[in-house]
Amino acid sequence: MAIEARPLQANLWSNTPSEGYHGFLGRNRILATRGLAPPDDPRQHKQAMTSHQHPPEKMMFQLALRRRGISDQVVLRTMEEVPREQFVDVADRDVAYRDSALPIACGQTISQPFVVAYMTEQLQLRKTHRVLEIGTGSGYQAAVLSRLAGQVLTVERYRMLADAARIRLEKLNCHNVEVMLGDGLNLPANIGPFDRIIVTAAMEQLPENLVERLEVGGILIAPVGPHQGVQTLIRLSRTEAGIERKELVEVRFVPALPGVAREL
Ligand code: SAH
Repeated sequence: MAIEARPLQANLWSNTPSEGYHGFLGRNRILATRGLAPPDDPRQHKQAMTSHQHPPEKMMFQLALRRRGISDQVVLRTMEEVPREQFVDVADRDVAYRDSALPIACGQTISQPFVVAYMTEQLQLRKTHRVLEIGTGSGYQAAVLSRLAGQVLTVERYRMLADAARIRLEKLNCHNVEVMLGDGLNLPANIGPFDRIIVTAAMEQLPENLVERLEVGGILIAPVGPHQGVQTLIRLSRTEAGIERKELVEVRFVPALPGVAREL
């Protein structure tokens, strides 16, 4: 009851820098029933301090993700390993491990870490998977996918962003990622199929020609809803019997726009 009674904003996981993370009352409750230590349990801090060499902000980063409900250890470790400070603007490096979206070039954003971790967890990745991402942005989500999947193709409509992401990913030895300049709303017919598809820009509707690139046994996750508002994160699973659709949470992403950008 308490969750429904809260205003819409309280359940919103934002992906735009102006909004920030609004908290999610239900998450900590779920955590408590899973038997994890509560967020401020000193035992957790002690364990983290003794088992990691990382600077304090990285430890807090991990704790924040756990506290908000990320429980997949492999995803948590990957989030810890990928250096987010290399994907944000130089001026934002000191806030790279805050749980918020940040502005990047071309008026776009690097997603909030919690949203990246949540979407990655939902994908249930294996090393054999061929993954498609629509919306490369900084390349951060692609770097996370790279460590958990077999092959990653990531598509971006701004050349400037695609080129910068390619350089970053090469520097980090993400050799299984291909960055492609293109329109994720209208991909060439010869691309795919994929075991997993992740869309990181808001789509008003899921294009049929994207869904049909999903293998049987595949999972697609995408924010679907109005461009200027709140979207719902949708998970589609393709089975032999057809497509199963599940609505996950409310989010806010920058819009997916048609065509390759003519400038930048
Ligand atoms: N995944 C990114 C964040 C994505 S922001 C990260 O980890 O940093 C959304 C991105 O989707 C933007 O860079 C935007 O330019 C891109 N985008 C929007 N519409 C697109 C389209 N039709 N095809 C490909 N990319 C698109």
